[in-house]
Formats: sequence, structure tokens, C-alpha cells
Amino acid sequence: MDNFSLLVKPASFKCNLRCEYCFYLGKEELFRSAKPMTAEILERMVSSFLAVEMPNHSFGWQGGEPTLMGLDFFKKVTMLQEKYGRGGILVSNGLQTNGTLLDNGARILQNTISSWGSALMVRPRYTTATGSPPEGRGAMNLS
Ligand code: SF4
Repeated sequence: MDNFSLLVKPASFKCNLRCEYCFYLGKEELFRSAKPMTAEILERMVSSFLAVEMPNHSFGWQGGEPTLMGLDFFKKVTMLQEKYGRGGILVSNGLQTNGTLLDNGARILQNTISSWGSALMVRPRYTTATGSPPEGRGAMNLS
């Protein structure tokens, strides 16, 4: 086994949309105590994961909507990956996002990750034509 993948939901189930087909819709009660990932947990997770002796480490960021965590969070991610990555290993990042919060910040993020030798794969998964929340439904907030 050469690849070791880790799926991370840093914003938990939270999302800025409420798609009517969402897996989490109607299940908010089950995740009521869920909180956004803290800096402390993030560092512990990245350091522990990269300490495992494997040539390829793959982080998959998803949610909910992972970009709700903000650009600084993902800058911290790449900083920690650089800090704890051992020489000779490949560290990659995949971002699964609804794409509605990708702006200039996302381009900065992409450049930032690339400059540290990781790959950013953006896979939009929001499928309505308008790019806005479905009519009659509000947005969930990260609070
Ligand atoms: S974008 Fe994804 S996580 Fe957000 S409400 Fe739609 S299906 Fe759910």
C-alpha cells in the first residue's frame, strides 16, 4: 500500500446551502454538538497523519462545505503539512466544494498549495443551475 488517504470534514456538516437532496438535511439534530475544527485539533491531526510511514499522504477536505473554514484555515493546513511532512513523501490535498464561496481567495489558496508542492483538486458538487440556494430554503451558518 503506497497511498494513505484521510477524509476530513473541518466544518462538520455545516454548509451555506440547503440542497433538497442533501444527506444532512433533516439530520441537524444528530450533529448539534458538532463544532468547527480547532487549530489544536488540526495540528494534532496533520502531525499524526504525516507521522505514519507511507510515501503518499492524501488529505480530502469535504463537508458540509469545507470552504466555510476560510482561507486562513487552509493556509494553516499547508503550513502544517510543510512543518510535519517528511522528506521524500508526497502530500496532496483534494477539496470537495459546492463552489459558491470560491473567489479570489481560492486562487490564492491554490497558488499557495502549489507553491508548497501539493495539489489542489476542486470538484464542484453543487448542481443547481442558478448557483444560489434552492428557493424557499435558507442557508446554514457556521457559528
Ligand atoms: S452543497 Fe452539499 S453539503 Fe451543502 S447543502 Fe448542498 S448537498 Fe448539502
